[in-house]
Amino acid sequence: MHPQSFFSRWATLFIILTLYSSAAASTGKQPNIVFLFSDDHAVQAISAYGSKSNKTPGIDRIAREGAVFVNSFCANSICGPSRACILTGKHSHINGFRRNGEQFDGGQPTFPKILQQSGYQTALVGKWHLGSNPTGFHYWEVLPGQGNYYNPDLLQMDGSRKRYTGYCTDIITDRAIKWLDEDRDKSKPFVLMCQHKAPHRNWSPAPRHFSMFDGKDVPEPESLFDDFAGRTPLLKENEMSIKNHFYWGHDAKLHGENQYPASFQSNINNREYQRMNATQKAAWDKQYEPENQAFLAKMKAGELSDKEILRWKYQRYIKDYLRTIAALDENVARVLNYLDENNLTENTIVIYSSDQGFYLGEHGWYDKRWMFEESLKMPFVVRWPGVIQPGTQSSALIQNIDYAPTFLEAAGADIPSDIQGRSLIPVFKNNSKAPSGWRDAIYYAYYENDAVHEVPIHDGIRTQRYKAMFFPRGRQWQLFDLLTDPNEMRSVHQDEAYRPILRGLQKRYRDLRSYYDVNPATIPMTRGDENWWKQRNQKTNQMARQGGYDLAFIGDSITQGWEGKGKKVWEQFYGNRNAINLGFGGDRTEHVIWRLSRGNLSNVKPKVAVVMIGTNNTGHFLQTPSEVAAGVKSILDIIQSKTPNTQILLLGIFPRGKDALDEKRLNNIAINQLIRRYHDGEKIHFLDIGDSLVEPDGTLSQEIMPDLLHLSETGYSRWAAAIESKLTSLGL
Ligand code: CA
Repeated sequence: MHPQSFFSRWATLFIILTLYSSAAASTGKQPNIVFLFSDDHAVQAISAYGSKSNKTPGIDRIAREGAVFVNSFCANSICGPSRACILTGKHSHINGFRRNGEQFDGGQPTFPKILQQSGYQTALVGKWHLGSNPTGFHYWEVLPGQGNYYNPDLLQMDGSRKRYTGYCTDIITDRAIKWLDEDRDKSKPFVLMCQHKAPHRNWSPAPRHFSMFDGKDVPEPESLFDDFAGRTPLLKENEMSIKNHFYWGHDAKLHGENQYPASFQSNINNREYQRMNATQKAAWDKQYEPENQAFLAKMKAGELSDKEILRWKYQRYIKDYLRTIAALDENVARVLNYLDENNLTENTIVIYSSDQGFYLGEHGWYDKRWMFEESLKMPFVVRWPGVIQPGTQSSALIQNIDYAPTFLEAAGADIPSDIQGRSLIPVFKNNSKAPSGWRDAIYYAYYENDAVHEVPIHDGIRTQRYKAMFFPRGRQWQLFDLLTDPNEMRSVHQDEAYRPILRGLQKRYRDLRSYYDVNPATIPMTRGDENWWKQRNQKTNQMARQGGYDLAFIGDSITQGWEGKGKKVWEQFYGNRNAINLGFGGDRTEHVIWRLSRGNLSNVKPKVAVVMIGTNNTGHFLQTPSEVAAGVKSILDIIQSKTPNTQILLLGIFPRGKDALDEKRLNNIAINQLIRRYHDGEKIHFLDIGDSLVEPDGTLSQEIMPDLLHLSETGYSRWAAAIESKLTSLGL
C-alpha cells in the first residue's frame, strides 16, 4: 500500500469521526426540524419499504442516512384527523377533530406553538385541511381544503388567495425553500412543515411524468378481486372499490358523458383538467387520449370482460398515483439538496411521512379509513445525523401522536403531561430499536361513518403480531393473525385456538381505552349509516326547525315508544301541549349528543325537556355507570347551552329485567345514583319514578313491561301520571 494512500484513508476516517462527534455534540443545541409530509402515500409505494412497483430515491436517501420505521401507524386513518393528532400529540377524541369537515380548535396547545415559545421559527406550507386557519406559525401559506394539483390557489396569512401557475408539488416546495432561504430569521432554529397534496385523489401527474409506465403494467395486488369472505359483512358496504366506485371523469380521466354507467360512476368530472390552461390541456390530451380511445374502442366492440375492465381501471389508477409520487419524491430530494448546499444537513431532523396509508388495489380498493394494514400504516423515515444510526430499520410500534412529544424533546421543551404520545427519542438513541418498556400495542379509532365511502365506525388495537378490531354496529369483533395472514383475509375471532388470544387482546383494548380516556358515552356518534335512523333524524331536524315546542321528550326506544304503545296516552296528556318526541330506538348517550348538537334542538326551545337515557350504554357494551353518567352530563350541558331557559326533568333510567337483582337493572340503579347529583333544583330536576313501575316485591310485571324493558300502554299511563305534577310545577 502506498503510504500516501494509507495516510489519506486515515485522514478521511478522522474527518468522518470528527464530523460524527461534532454532530453528536451539536445535539446539545436545538436542531432544526423539516417535516416533509404528503397525503395518502402508502408504504407499498416507497422503495425503502420494499415497493414492487416504483422507486423513490429521494425518500430512500432519508432512510439510508437515517432510519425507516416499519411499524408506524396513524390513530385515525383520514386526512384532517391524522393532522390534528400530529399537531397535538393526542387521539382524535381528545383533540376534538374526529371527522373530516369538522373545525380544528386552533386555540388548543400544539407542538408548533410550544416550539415558538422555545425560540423556534415555525412555518407551514401546503396542505392543511383542518377547517380553521393555522395557529402557531410565524409563516403559513396553505391550500384551501383539498387544494388542486394544477395551478393551485394558496390561502395567504392576510386572508387573500394567490394563484400559482404550475404543478402543486413543485410550487409547495418552491414556497417552502423560499421561506428557508429568504424569509426566516436565520439566527434561530426552525421547524418547517412542507405538506403536499400528492398523491391524494384524483392522482393528477405532472406533465414530465405522463409517460412513466408507458407500455408496462404495474403488478396487481393479490387481493384485487377480494370477495370479503371470512370477515365482517360490513366490509361489503364499502363504497371505495375500483370495480364499483370509480368515476368516469374524476378517476378514469375520460372526457364527456359516461358512456358505460355499468362500469363507471358518473357526475364527478375531472376538475383538474378543467383548471388547466391550453398548453397543459394539450399536453394532457396528447398522452391520455390515445390510451382512452383504445380502451373505449375495445369497450365498444364488447371485447372486455368485467375482470379486464377492472384491470384497466386499476392500471389507470395506480399509474397516475405512482406518477404523482415521482414528482413528490423529486421534491423531497430538492429539499435535501437545499439543506446540503446551505450547510443545514448536520443539525436538522428530516422526516418524511404521510397522513395515512392507502389501498393500492388491495381488497379491490382505493382510499383509506379501515384499520387494515395498508391504510393503518404511515410512512415514517427520519434522519438526524449524530443521533440516529444511518441505515437502521425499526420495528418499534409508533404512532402519529408520538411526533409532537418527539419534536418537543428534541427542542429541549417540556412535554405537557396531557400529551398522549411518547417521544421517539429513546428509540432513536437505541439504534432505532424499541427500548425496554416501549409500548406493546397501539390504539386506533375511526369515526367517520355515514360519509363518503361508507366505512363504519370501528376501533381496535394492534400489537406486533395481532390486530383486534371492534365494530359497534352489530357489536362485532374481528381478529387477524398478521404472522399467518398478513393480507388480513380471514378473521379468526371465532376460531377456538385463538380464543385466549382474543380474550387477552380484548382486555388490552379495554385497558388502552381507559388509559387514553376513551369514553364512548361522551363521544358524539351518528347512526346515519342505518337508514331508518337517518330518515328519522332528517324528519326530526325538519320538525325541530319549525319550532314552537313547549315540551320535548329526549331518549331512546322507551321514549320513541310514545309513538307506539304510548300513542293514546300521549294524545291524552301531551296532544295539545306542543310536544315533540326526540326518542330514537337503540340510541345511547353518544347518539343523543350527536343529534342534539346537530339539528334536533335547532328551534326547539321548550319550557320543559324530559330526559331519560343510558340503559343501552350498559345493555350493549357494558360501559361503566360512571362513563354513562358522564354521557348524560354532556347531554344536559348541550341542552343548557342551546336552550338556557329550559327546565330539564332528568328521569332516573327505568328499571328493567325481571327482578330487583337483575344485572342490567343494577347498572341503571348505579347510573341513577350518579346522575341524581346533577339535580340543582333550578334548571335541572332529577326524578326517579321507578317505584311506580315495579311490583311491591320488586319484580317487573309483563303487564307493565312485556319484554321487561319497554313499556305497555299501561306502563306509559303510569309514566305520564308520575311526572304530571312535576311538569305542571315546572311551568308547563
Ligand atoms: Ca390523507
